[in-house]
Amino acid sequence: DVPAAGKASTRYDLEKETELRFEVESGEAAEQVELELLTGMGEVFGSELNRNKKYTFGPGSKIAVFTWQGCSVNLYGKPEVAYVSKDTPMLLYLNTHAALEQMRKQAERDNERGPRVMVVGPTDVGKSTVCRLLLSYAVRVGRRPTFVELDVGQSGVSVPGTVSALCIERPADVEEGFSVQAPLVYHFGSTTPGTNIKLYNKLTSCLAEVFSQRCEVNRKASVGGCIINTCGWVKGSGYQALVHCASTFQVDVVLVLDHERLYNELKRDLPHFVRVVLLPKSGGVVERSKECRRDARDEKIREYFYGFRGVTYYPFSFEVRFSDVRIYKIGAPSIPDSCLPLGMSQDDTQLKLVPVTPGRDLTYHVLSVSSAEDGDEGARKGIVESPVCGFIVVTHVDTQAQVMKVLSPAPRPLPRHTLLIMDIRFMDMK
Ligand code: ATP
Repeated sequence: DVPAAGKASTRYDLEKETELRFEVESGEAAEQVELELLTGMGEVFGSELNRNKKYTFGPGSKIAVFTWQGCSVNLYGKPEVAYVSKDTPMLLYLNTHAALEQMRKQAERDNERGPRVMVVGPTDVGKSTVCRLLLSYAVRVGRRPTFVELDVGQSGVSVPGTVSALCIERPADVEEGFSVQAPLVYHFGSTTPGTNIKLYNKLTSCLAEVFSQRCEVNRKASVGGCIINTCGWVKGSGYQALVHCASTFQVDVVLVLDHERLYNELKRDLPHFVRVVLLPKSGGVVERSKECRRDARDEKIREYFYGFRGVTYYPFSFEVRFSDVRIYKIGAPSIPDSCLPLGMSQDDTQLKLVPVTPGRDLTYHVLSVSSAEDGDEGARKGIVESPVCGFIVVTHVDTQAQVMKVLSPAPRPLPRHTLLIMDIRFMDMK
């Protein structure tokens, strides 16, 4: 062991097609772990490591360094666990990438569109990781795939409670993931699709439509295709949402991770030309507890306002008058069919904009700032289908003065005045 920068180091010599898995302790006080590639070539979830560069991983990170040819690496610090595994599904994942790449080549030749891929499976099977891997491999061979994030609980693109799409132009950064510039984000408002499945399906369709429009005008995007990450809810309406997504995006390939029943159901219910493929999960994927997921959500919101690692943002805090904004919740509570007004269906109530009267209970709620033009009744129609331009958090409400204090990434005034309330709250501890 050679201590570097005061930290103990451990060297691992990895044989070809093996991976080093390690976890960094979670909690604020936990020590970071650094990784350095000494010889050979290695990659983290599809992104190649540079030699003699130290990569830092913070509390709670769960990482795998895979090598196709063999390599040696050093870990500095004390990971909670670190072990080498010879048993990985990486070859199958690489073959999947190769098959998708064939489809892209064919699309290029025949002037058609590239593969649209949906990744499904229960929670903690590594769906997000497989998406990252396939996207990074695609971009490494010169493609420009689109990442569609439908996981409203753990979004890799924006804050929780949203669905989004992102054009991928370079491989994920080893430490930070994909660079998130100009994503297209829609407000969903809660962390499970079940709270408003109609809205969830509607937003999935919105994303599909925008993606298709882009494909029409951008050949590279069309050939690159898309990789869609989904929620871990695979039963009942959750399953129906997957079928809806497959149809609205017209997916060509469905990758089912580690769930034979889901595989059989999708094979049965999707049109025969959709290729449904069952893939094993990696033994390295770590199950995450409820607390762990909640912490990750909180962290994502904190990052939005305060930045991440090297980049520090300084958010603004200012007062907003109630009279200057209109706050809505999407979806009225469901009422029995027999009580619905004549000619109205349950669908209408789930997509209805319900005005929210500002009060103390707004405190700590995350609000999406809708990009919909401020306007009268007529303009309200498009709000549900409009992307959001940012988020604010209510930090204090003064009902007497009729103002609320908000945390915002940009100085006042707000760019738009239509706000959508999320179930999600964020307590700013800074
Ligand atoms: P969710 O249920 O939230 O949708 P998921 O199925 O998308 O989860 P991931 O987020 O991809 O799962 O993976 C869960 C965790 O396991 C992540 O922290 C990821 O970094 C880690 N992980 C994935 N693959 C490996 C591996 N081979 N070795 C070590 N850790 C891994």
